[in-house]
Amino acid sequence: MCGCAALVAGARPPRPVLPRRLRRRRGSSVRAEVSPGGESQPKKVTVAGAGWAGFAAAHHLIKQGYDVTLLAAESGPTEEVGLRGFWQPYRNIFALVDELGISPFTGWNKAAYYSTEGLAVEFPIFHNQPRLPAPFGVFAYPELQSLTSTTLTLLGGNMMQENSDFLLCRGEVEEKIFSPWLQSLELKGLKFVENKVPTSLTTDVDSGCISSIVCGDDVYEADAFVLAMGLSSLQSIVKNSPFLRSDREFRNLLHLSTVDVISVKLWFDKKIIIPKVANVCSGFDDSSGWAFFDLTSVYDDYCEESITIVEAEFYNASHLVLLSDDDIVYEASSHLIKCIQDFEGAIVIRYSIRRSPNSVINFLPGSYKYTLRGSTSFPNLFIAGDWIVNRHGSFSKEKAYVTGLEAGNRVVDYFDIGDFAKIIAVEGDEPHIETLRSLNRRANELKSQIPFSEFFLQ
Ligand SMILES: Cc1cc2nc3c(=O)[nH]c(=O)nc-3n(C[C@H](O)[C@H](O)[C@H](O)COP(=O)(O)OP(=O)(O)OC[C@H]3O[C@@H](n4cnc5c(N)ncnc54)[C@H](O)[C@@H]3O)c2cc1C
Repeated sequence: MCGCAALVAGARPPRPVLPRRLRRRRGSSVRAEVSPGGESQPKKVTVAGAGWAGFAAAHHLIKQGYDVTLLAAESGPTEEVGLRGFWQPYRNIFALVDELGISPFTGWNKAAYYSTEGLAVEFPIFHNQPRLPAPFGVFAYPELQSLTSTTLTLLGGNMMQENSDFLLCRGEVEEKIFSPWLQSLELKGLKFVENKVPTSLTTDVDSGCISSIVCGDDVYEADAFVLAMGLSSLQSIVKNSPFLRSDREFRNLLHLSTVDVISVKLWFDKKIIIPKVANVCSGFDDSSGWAFFDLTSVYDDYCEESITIVEAEFYNASHLVLLSDDDIVYEASSHLIKCIQDFEGAIVIRYSIRRSPNSVINFLPGSYKYTLRGSTSFPNLFIAGDWIVNRHGSFSKEKAYVTGLEAGNRVVDYFDIGDFAKIIAVEGDEPHIETLRSLNRRANELKSQIPFSEFFLQ
């Protein structure tokens, strides 16, 4: 395992020069053997998965002079279709966007929350409001007082002032962020290989290292590997690789479950007034929730349209995945009508549906212990993605991006070549929250000293 604190801390500390053989281990990190012939050729790293995590790892390693191959499952980088929020704490992604010199975002947006009773609340833009100590920053605003604390928790648990404001991408993330990002990486020497789905890994028995990623008939050998392709794909690889199946940490992944997601994009024949661009909905059926976005107000390409283009996303959507396209369009339209009546008389003139079975980890109680960290028992195999355990404290895309940078840092640490990526920390807790946390920790410590406390105290 690499020392995470050091990896997150940013600039690389000066390193003492150690004799070759002693460089194999320093602290808790595992280092690559240094070849007697020296380091004339750049080290080869293969990254599988062209999402936020895989791109981040490739981005850092290319800048450090590695020979990087990025394997993409499809014919380009793939952010799921649909609209995506970029919340105020996404400091590392915002730094990336600045580095790329692109401007993909709208201004700060307002969201609304709908229940089956209709519009329940419109959120203010907290960014423009005086910042109050948590949790008062949420409850002090009259707009939110109609919501119960349970509903606020259901809305994501991110209802602190700074976590609720978001930017939207002014088009698909693939087009506005990933395409220019890929271009800049290819100019620096990235090898981007399309339509490659890893089926298994091979290992070198002598060194205990991973030696290649197998994609059907193609074999990608490298000195180190970053797997950033999502949990369900990794589970398939574990099933196909006998030596991974016999490794407990990888076998444990098979205990984890995932949920299905469906995105439905609908073109309606007329202009419909949708009060807020982003709308979170719950209580409509057995799913854990759904959301809809007014793309006509957000996407550059649609702003001149005299029709309405909406994206609806259904989470935990196993009840929808098997339906026909027509039935899915019907379901999505009926849900929209319950929120905004004007959809009633509108006709769907075009649609696109993306079914993503098993695409999101289901964080069930007890799943934490089965989840992987960034380093594995194979010294040259690293994991990245929004579903792994790390200590940064970010979420969703920002977490995926940070785990990719951390994987890049682990490769740098393993070979002892290059600088660590600078990772911006999440904002620290306010003093009163930190004090409450310390008190809670102290109370737990005291509790643990009471004999049979586990038995008597819940
Ligand atoms: C419906 C929905 C809405 C969301 N909304 C938001 C939001 O508003 N804001 C936000 O911050 N986050 C949002 N998220 C979460 C966000 O999309 C993820 O956190 C982020 O995409 C995770 O990035 P990743 O790189 O870890 O994984 P992914 O984005 O899943 O990338 C994995 C990549 O690996 C590829 N891949 C998969 N299998 C293989 C394989 N076998 N071989 C090779 N490549 C493979 C995939 O094609 C993909 O390119 C949302 C997620 C969903 C499902």
